Amino acid sequence: MMDGLLLLLLFVAAVGIGWWLGRRYQHQLQQPSIADENYYRGLNYLLNHETDAALDLFIDSLEVNNHNLATHLALGNAFRRKGEVDKAIHIHQNLLNREGLTHQQLAQAQLELAHDFVTAGLLDRAEQLLLESAGFSPDKQAWGTLLLDIYQREKDWQKALDIAQRFHLQNVPNLAARLSHYACELAQDAVDVGHFDQAQQYLVQGHKLMADNPRVAMIQATIAMQQQNFDKGGRFLRQLGQQDPSLIPLILSDLAHCYVADSQQQEWQNWLHTCMQDHPCTSVMLALADILRQQSDVDAVAFVTQELRQRPSVRGFNYLIDLYMQWATDHARESLEALQGLTVALEQSKPAYQCKQCGYASNTMQWQCPTCHQWDTTKPVYGLRGE
Ligand SMILES: [Zn+2]
Repeated sequence: MMDGLLLLLLFVAAVGIGWWLGRRYQHQLQQPSIADENYYRGLNYLLNHETDAALDLFIDSLEVNNHNLATHLALGNAFRRKGEVDKAIHIHQNLLNREGLTHQQLAQAQLELAHDFVTAGLLDRAEQLLLESAGFSPDKQAWGTLLLDIYQREKDWQKALDIAQRFHLQNVPNLAARLSHYACELAQDAVDVGHFDQAQQYLVQGHKLMADNPRVAMIQATIAMQQQNFDKGGRFLRQLGQQDPSLIPLILSDLAHCYVADSQQQEWQNWLHTCMQDHPCTSVMLALADILRQQSDVDAVAFVTQELRQRPSVRGFNYLIDLYMQWATDHARESLEALQGLTVALEQSKPAYQCKQCGYASNTMQWQCPTCHQWDTTKPVYGLRGE
């Protein structure tokens, strides 16, 4: 409330200065004009804390011109940022109803009004306004980006890609990655219904927009594996691991499946060893321990113990307790089970993935964070309670 009042006071001060400057150039000062009366009535409302009535009066009575247009726009934007969207819409709609605005000023007010509609959740109205007046816009990028935001909220990926092409948004560096993910969304939808050829077309588009998008490799691997081509599936998964090594825990079980299906156990082991040197993580360490365990539990214990000294992790301790459990006496087993109860609880208390932008955590990988809506910000959690 106080913020709103302050904003309004600032606005009135700005308007008052403009009004005073205007009066200096008036020659017929004898009779107060209607604008003068409205200004004083508005001040009266304001002093009586009737801010809504004051705002209405000022907005309705004030002439919009080149000098105060920026004040109107700034006030509208300030109200929108404060969450008072209805006031922002009122101000911007008022601007559009005024005559004498240049095409550029009109487009500026339309863009702000569209932002208001988006903030208010009136996506259809925002879309309609932007599409109807897009031709006049001098700032095609701002226009297209807002439309892109609308289609992203509606998860209409095809419309988003079409509008990006119309406004040449693929050339905007920070938008290309987003657009690549839209193509991946469409590719994944096509994969889900078995339309692999169509999926490939979207993946080509996704790759063109962002050559090192790991999600393109992920979907390519999924298609290859569904077509029983495990050699190709493995190649795409390894490519993903090179593009973004932090995602290696995500691909491990699929990659193991590809190697085993092609009877390449030794190659799988070699890859894990290399990975452990270049990008060590708990999941890779445990995959190696599993292989050692097939031959000798003692070797597996020695390996895990040595690794844990360098990179302690709750999951690793859990695994070690499991190994020791088989040799333990009844009494010791009881103690180990109690200890494992604690380590399992500790492990489960930390979700496997977390958004680096906003901290949203979950146990499944999300290419777009459901909270902050950023792409590619969710990664496996590393550290004592993670990888
Ligand atoms: Zn987030």
